[in-house]
Amino acid sequence: MIRFDRVSKRFGDVVVLDELDFAVRAGERVALIGPSGSGKTTILRLLMGPERVDSGTIHVGGDCLTHMRRGDRLVAADDRHLRRVRRRIGMVFQQFNLFPNMRVLRNVTEAPVCVLGEPRPDAERRGRELLELVGLGDKLDAYPTRLSGGQQQRVAIARALAMRPDVLLLDEVTSALDPELAAEVLDVLRDLARTSDITMLCVTHAMRFARDVSHRVLMFDRGRVVEDKPPEELFEHPEHERTRAFLRSVL
Ligand code: ADP
Repeated sequence: MIRFDRVSKRFGDVVVLDELDFAVRAGERVALIGPSGSGKTTILRLLMGPERVDSGTIHVGGDCLTHMRRGDRLVAADDRHLRRVRRRIGMVFQQFNLFPNMRVLRNVTEAPVCVLGEPRPDAERRGRELLELVGLGDKLDAYPTRLSGGQQQRVAIARALAMRPDVLLLDEVTSALDPELAAEVLDVLRDLARTSDITMLCVTHAMRFARDVSHRVLMFDRGRVVEDKPPEELFEHPEHERTRAFLRSVL
């Protein structure tokens, strides 16, 4: 579902990703962990914007995200191509990013109606179902500012799912929340993991979440994967000194 082939990215003199290879199968849930500055967020920003690779290729589903065919040549993707391939991806951010001037249900239905062209009644029916799924069936008419952070983040999850993505990217989705509110968001994601086969790629400092939800954990250090294992193995038997040091610092 996602494949990075020899992807490099630098900012000025700083090499952030160095010929990175990794792949995520359809339905797999993968957590990216590692010290701050190791390149995890850059991976999400290459997938969902605004960054572009310096070299290498990224595939999403069967489609190449980074390049497109022009005649018999492969050229860098233009904005239209990027938008088309990115339709397969949904994203939830640390800071929720809801539309403050729209009620909860409208936050969830806006993109399906305006971008996918779904009839509003259909989008609303599905929006209600999704808000029910995240435990907010009674908040359809509330404005986001009247909700707790945990509730806002659950709306953001419903909003991402409303676009029927194949892949869900989660960027530190609990970092801005108090532990109690983080727990309710994690519960929703755990349920989603149990009941759907959506592919998930999450950047997280919440090791409990990585352990509970993911099939595989990739430990990053300086733009490279230093360890790639099922969570129970990685957490119980970290092989690399970098992984051990990192886990000591966060657990
Ligand atoms: P992580 O998510 O693992 O903390 P990031 O992917 O955010 O790491 O960042 C990796 C490195 O890239 C850091 O050194 C960061 O300062 C640098 N970086 C990220 N985005 C930019 C940018 N837009 N301009 C300059 N440097 C950046």
